[in-house]
Amino acid sequence: MAKVASGRTEEQFQDLLRRLELALDASQIGVWQHNVDDNELLWDMQMHRLYGTGLRDRRVPSDVWMNALHPEDVEKAFSDFQVALDMRGFYNSQFRIILPSGEVRYIRSRAHFYEGLDGSPSFIGAEWDVTADVLLNRELISQKAIAEARAVALEQSRARIEYAADHDYLTGLPNRRYFDRRLAELRKDPTIETLAVLHIDLDGFKEINDTWGHAAGDAALQSVAARVSAAITANDIVARVSGDEFVAVLINVGSSERLKAIVSDIFSRLRREVRFGNEMLRVGASIGVALSQAGKAGNLLAESDVALFQAKKLGRNRAEFFTPALQDELHAERRLADELRLAPVLRQIEPFYQIQVNARSRRIVGLEALARWRHPEKGLLNPAAFLKVADEYGLTPEIDAAVLKRALADRASWVSRGLVPPRIAVNISGRRLADPDLIEGLQALKIPRHAIAFELVETIFLDDPDDRVLASIDGIKRMGIDIEIDDFGSGHASLIGLVKLKPKRLKIDRQLVTAVTVSDEQRRLVGSIVDIARALNVEVIAEGVETEEHARILAEVGCDELQGYAIGYPSPEGEIATLLKSADARGRSRSAAVEDEGTTGSAAR
Ligand code: C2E
Ligand code: MG
Ligand code: MG
Repeated sequence: MAKVASGRTEEQFQDLLRRLELALDASQIGVWQHNVDDNELLWDMQMHRLYGTGLRDRRVPSDVWMNALHPEDVEKAFSDFQVALDMRGFYNSQFRIILPSGEVRYIRSRAHFYEGLDGSPSFIGAEWDVTADVLLNRELISQKAIAEARAVALEQSRARIEYAADHDYLTGLPNRRYFDRRLAELRKDPTIETLAVLHIDLDGFKEINDTWGHAAGDAALQSVAARVSAAITANDIVARVSGDEFVAVLINVGSSERLKAIVSDIFSRLRREVRFGNEMLRVGASIGVALSQAGKAGNLLAESDVALFQAKKLGRNRAEFFTPALQDELHAERRLADELRLAPVLRQIEPFYQIQVNARSRRIVGLEALARWRHPEKGLLNPAAFLKVADEYGLTPEIDAAVLKRALADRASWVSRGLVPPRIAVNISGRRLADPDLIEGLQALKIPRHAIAFELVETIFLDDPDDRVLASIDGIKRMGIDIEIDDFGSGHASLIGLVKLKPKRLKIDRQLVTAVTVSDEQRRLVGSIVDIARALNVEVIAEGVETEEHARILAEVGCDELQGYAIGYPSPEGEIATLLKSADARGRSRSAAVEDEGTTGSAAR
C-alpha cells in the first residue's frame, strides 16, 4: 500500500480528503489556491457555488475572481492581498462580489502564504458568505443608532418639559411654580438678610390687546419682562405669574431707600413706550412692594398683594409699600365686603326715595330709589359708606338688584293701597349692565311698563360702550324701562355717547346745578345743556336743587324736572307713602276744582 508523506496510507489519505470535502461542503466554505506567478486559481466546487459561476473547472483564470469583485471593493481587496504578499504572511479580507445573476454577496476570505515546489509565492485559503452577518450587523448598528437618537430626543424633551413646567413660553421668564419654589428656598437660606417682593400688575394691558391685537399684547409683555429683568440684579428673580402680572423677589436689597430707588427705576423703564411695528404702545403698571427680614418673610407675597391692591385703589400707575396699617385697613374693608355680600340676602339693603317734581307745576313726577344699608350694628348707612367697597369687590350688581326688587315691592304695596306711584328711577352700575343674564333676570320680574327708569352713571356709556352694554340698554328700553343719564356733566361728557344711547332723560350733575345761582356763565352752560337735550328729544332733570332760588332759575332755563333737598330729602318707604297719599288728595281736589270750573263754565253759557 502506497504511503504518503504524512505516514498515512493512500487509502487513509483519500478517506481524510473525502471527509474534509464533506465537512467543507457542509460548512459551505470554499477553498482556493493561488500561485501568484500564474494567472490561474484553483477552486473547489464550493468556490464556484459561492461565485455563482455555473462552472466546475478546477482551474479558473484569475480574471473570474477579479471580474466578480464589486467595483467599490476592488481597490481594498487588491491592497489586502498585496499586503499579505509583501509580508508573505496571513491574508485576511472582506469584500463584495457581484454574481452573474446580479446578486451581491459579502465574502470573507482568509489565506496562508506558502512557497510552491518551485519557490513561487502561493496562497491557500478559504472563503465563505457573510452576507447575512453583515446585513444583520448593519441592521443592528442602525437600530442602535435609532435607539440612541431616541434616547437623546427623550432626554431633550424631558429637559424641555421640565423647563416648560417652570417657565413662561412667551417671555422666557420663570413662572409662578418656579417662583414659589425659589421663594420658599430663599426664605430658609441663612445667608440672606432681607427679601423684597414686588408684585407688578400692568394697567391698560387689556386695552392694548383689544385695540392692537394679541401680537401687540405679546410684544408689550416681552418688553416688560426684559425691562424689569434689566432693572434688577442677576441674583434677583422676576417671574410672570399670570396674564399681565409679574412678581420679582430682590435678595439683600438693603435699605428701604435703595428699594424705593429700584422701584422708581422700574417705573421709569416701564414708562417708555413699546414699539410695535409703526405703533408706540403705552404700558402702565401698579406695583405692590413688601420688604422683610428673610426669616420673617412668610407673608411677603400676601403683603405685596395688599400693597398692590392699595396701589390700584389709589388710581393705578403707582407703587405702594406694605404697612401693617394698610393691612388693618384692608382687613376692615374685607370684613365690610363680607357683610355686604350677605346684606341683600338678609334684606338689609333697602331703598330710600327722593321725589322729583315737574319744574313748573311742582307736582311729583318721579322718585329716585337710593340704596341704604340697615347695618345691624352701625345703623343706617348711606352709599358713601359702602358703595366703594361694593364696587371694589364686585358687589354692586347685587345691591342694584336688591334695590330694584324692594322698589317694585314698595310700588306694588302702594298700588294695593290705592295710591298712584310715579315712575321710580333706580341706579344701575356698569357691572350690572354688562351682566349677560341681566335682561332675562329683569323679564322674570314682570316690571310694569313705564313704572321704572334706570339711571346710568355717565362714565358707563362714555367709555365707548361695548356691544354687550348696548344690547342690554336696547333690551331694557324694549321692556318699557326708561334710560336716564345720571350726573351728566360731571365726567367726560360726550354728545356722541348721548346720541348713541338715546336716553329718555339726563340728569344734570349737582356741581353744575349748584353754580347757577352764582354766575351767569354757569346759568348759560346749564341752558345750553337743556338746548342740546331738547334738540335730541331728551328730557332734563336738575339734581342737587338745594334752594328755592335754584329751583326758580332751573325752571327758567328750561329744566323739566327738579330733584334735591329743596324739594325733598331721601326718605323711607313709609314717609313716601304718606307724601303720595297727600299729593293724591291734593291732585284729586285740584282736578275736582277743575271739573267744578268746567261745570260752572258750561253752566254759565
Ligand atoms: P346719585 O344717583 O347722583 O344720587 C343723588 C345723590 O345726591 C344721593 O346721595 C342724594 O341723597 C344726594 N342728593 C340729593 N339731593 C341733594 C341735594 O340737594 N344736595 C346734596 N348735596 N345732595 C343731594 P346718596 O343717596 O348718598 O347716593 C349717592 C350715590 O350713590 C348716588 O348718586 C348713586 O350714584 C349711588 N347710589 C345710590 N343708590 C344706588 C344703587 O342702588 N345702586 C347704585 N349702583 N348706586 C347707587
Ligand atoms: Mg342717581
Ligand atoms: Mg346723580
